[in-house]
Amino acid sequence: MNSDLQGIGMTSQRARNRLVDKLRDMGIRSERVLEIIAGTPRHIFVDEALASRAYENTALPIGYNQTISQPYIVARMTEALLTDNGLKKVLEVGTGCGYQTAILAQLAEKVYSIERIEALQARARESLRSLKLNNIRFRHGDGNLGWPHYAPYDGIIVTAAPAGVPGALMDQLADNGRMVIPVGLTGEQKLLLITRTAQGFEEQSLDWVSFVPMVEGVG
Ligand code: SAH
Repeated sequence: MNSDLQGIGMTSQRARNRLVDKLRDMGIRSERVLEIIAGTPRHIFVDEALASRAYENTALPIGYNQTISQPYIVARMTEALLTDNGLKKVLEVGTGCGYQTAILAQLAEKVYSIERIEALQARARESLRSLKLNNIRFRHGDGNLGWPHYAPYDGIIVTAAPAGVPGALMDQLADNGRMVIPVGLTGEQKLLLITRTAQGFEEQSLDWVSFVPMVEGVG
């Protein structure tokens, strides 16, 4: 890794390891997920002025009124999406700065990621390219509609909160596929795990969360 990616001081490997210890203490069990978080520089996804705070377990602003998700939530959502069979195709709604995308790209064969704000998408694309993650396809569009062309997906992860689960995303979930999605209005959002079974959809509530709202249309 070159020195920018590696980080020094507050952005060093030691800072990443401390974050991983904290996530483990908070209940993250998947060693695979923890290992990937330990190996992924988060500081390159935020503004340089915030880089020293990149390994705190907090959400941080990324411009355009959006935030990079809290590491604990990234870990929790990723862990919930994983199965013993691994992940082939994953759809991500809300690329944002691309940090969650980077984690997913190291677990799935292929990641399809949709973002409605073009400038954020351009920046994410560049950060992910610098990490040499090449199994990602980007789309500038409205994630409420999913990405039918590559459906069905065995995993769908949504990182902005709609008022209810968009029907198009349900439709694009493969049999035995899993969707992790925050749902509800600001202040009362629940993180749901939705599994598609032969009988229909099963829904499990994982946590109370606080995400930016999912917006209709493109930015
Ligand atoms: N996982 C991202 C989270 C960014 S915040 C990260 O950690 O950086 C949520 C993102 O969802 C924002 O970038 C926002 O622009 C995007 N978003 C909101 N509504 C959307 C929609 N309908 N379609 C696609 N992206 C959307």
